[in-house]
Amino acid sequence: MKKKIALDMDEVIVNIYDRFISLYVEQYNVVPNPEDYVGRKFYNVKGAENFRNYLFEPGFFLDLPIFEGAADVVEWLNTHFDLFIVTAAQEFPHSLIDKYHWLQKHLPFISWKQFVFCGDKSIIKADYMIDDHVHNLKTFDGLGLLFSASHNINENGYIRLNNWNEVKLFFEKELENEPVR
Ligand SMILES: [Mg+2]
Repeated sequence: MKKKIALDMDEVIVNIYDRFISLYVEQYNVVPNPEDYVGRKFYNVKGAENFRNYLFEPGFFLDLPIFEGAADVVEWLNTHFDLFIVTAAQEFPHSLIDKYHWLQKHLPFISWKQFVFCGDKSIIKADYMIDDHVHNLKTFDGLGLLFSASHNINENGYIRLNNWNEVKLFFEKELENEPVR
């Protein structure tokens, strides 16, 4: 039986910081200083205190860029593992429909049956969880994998995957280590 992976969207497959940076540049004609948001939330940048409001706007989540390498590796994972996209969507109600369409556009090989739009991820049971938030990994019973994002750069205690190439290498090793049945 294939092992189950619970895969987060925001800041794992979907690059929200990139969009925040372009919105900031549009508004202020200046690139935000990484020192103001690396290791913290983007809302710590002066002038971006209200950027969280964008998350409530219809269409915001529809148009976000995908991380480099993500589509190919997710497709590969989808053939070797029992993959589920597990994303907290209820907090931003418009994101539900936006995320549904985003997934169909960028990852069309994933069935709607594999979408898990949830609130609290502590309900999730799987073998692996890939997420950028430690609070989601803390309540997870399987193996939590921390996907690097600028806000989690100072977190320790989890296996860290820095990019999609590292995700592929990690799961290739997991497959090699599987006992032959
Ligand atoms: Mg996330």
